Amino acid sequence: MTHRIAVIPGDGIGKEVMPEGLRALEAAAARFGIDLALEPFDFASCDYYLEHGQMLPDDWFETLKDHDAIFYGAVGWPEMVPDHISLWGSLLQFRRRFDQYVNLRPCKLLPGVKSPLAGREPGDIDFYVVRENTEGEYSSVGGRMFEGTEREVVIQETVMTRTGVDRVLKYAYELAASRPRKQLTSATKSNGIAITMPWWDERVKAVGERYPEVSVQAFHIDILAANFVMHPDWFDVVVASNLFGDILSDLGPACTGTIGVAPSANINPDGSFPSLFEPVHGSAPDIAGRGIANPIGQVWSAAMMLEHLGHPDAGRAIVDAFEAVLSEGDPAVLTPDVGGQGTTETLGRAIAARIAG
Ligand code: ATP
Ligand code: MG
Repeated sequence: MTHRIAVIPGDGIGKEVMPEGLRALEAAAARFGIDLALEPFDFASCDYYLEHGQMLPDDWFETLKDHDAIFYGAVGWPEMVPDHISLWGSLLQFRRRFDQYVNLRPCKLLPGVKSPLAGREPGDIDFYVVRENTEGEYSSVGGRMFEGTEREVVIQETVMTRTGVDRVLKYAYELAASRPRKQLTSATKSNGIAITMPWWDERVKAVGERYPEVSVQAFHIDILAANFVMHPDWFDVVVASNLFGDILSDLGPACTGTIGVAPSANINPDGSFPSLFEPVHGSAPDIAGRGIANPIGQVWSAAMMLEHLGHPDAGRAIVDAFEAVLSEGDPAVLTPDVGGQGTTETLGRAIAARIAG
């Protein structure tokens, strides 16, 4: 079976780290006998916008909907195109139309990367944040009245549906059940948000009945955030609503050192539409064009994509490869953000060579 992958480098360092992501992907595909059809696209980038006046072609949905996955670099070039246009016109369209209702981010301290949390070693931090990606606090339901007067009123609703919440909880439980610790942490705030959050807690219990092997704990979001910093070793899989998940999925990777290594997946678990895999970092205009961006966020995203496509062994081999290269710590190979003097390409090539074995 051939996996059709849409390859979209996007902007800035997206264009620099993508070749290294592809190098790793191709090395893993060759080693594990996986058949990939990689199809590059230039849209969903600010260059495309400047030429066409829109981020995506009119037929983008038809063009992409039958792909098995989208492998994305980074979007945004705020000097030329405001972020709300570039982001809304590309990634957020994909998320909505392809119903990518799970946002998944691993938070793992890698060898050779210094955590901002004092004394933390690899092994102390190794968990996932599962964020609900389509509803919740980020609804556009609400409005303003008496604008600009002393009586001004502003309302924005949280919209949670049983379908929407149960499906992301199911994903989180299954992920927890597949891991050795089998532990799920739910982010709540039922002591302050008195309607939606107690109901969220009820759904966590109800869905959990099907997963007796998973142990569940709930924390209020405020203390949960504090515990990411104080006790990151407490966590295995953390599930959260859209807003809470947004915050935790930035805080988690921040606890593991450089943003350059963090990957993410926007997943449609039903497989009815393609899922999207991209590094957490943005286009990084401050270092773009210098060839020094760390490619590991892109490479790790490739590993998540292979796992999603049913090749966990190939994904594992990619992760093992960059962990080995980081452990060796050769400054001529590593990029400056992890203490080396190498380039995007030296690090990417070293990883691909490891994958090839
Ligand atoms: P977003 O597009 O999500 O708004 P941003 O503009 O806030 O992102 P980034 O583009 O991710 O932020 O850059 C934040 C900082 O991290 C910058 O100083 C950038 O140089 C650095 N950085 C980002 N990605 C990498 C990378 N792959 N390697 C090294 N440094 C990076
Ligand atoms: Mg930016």
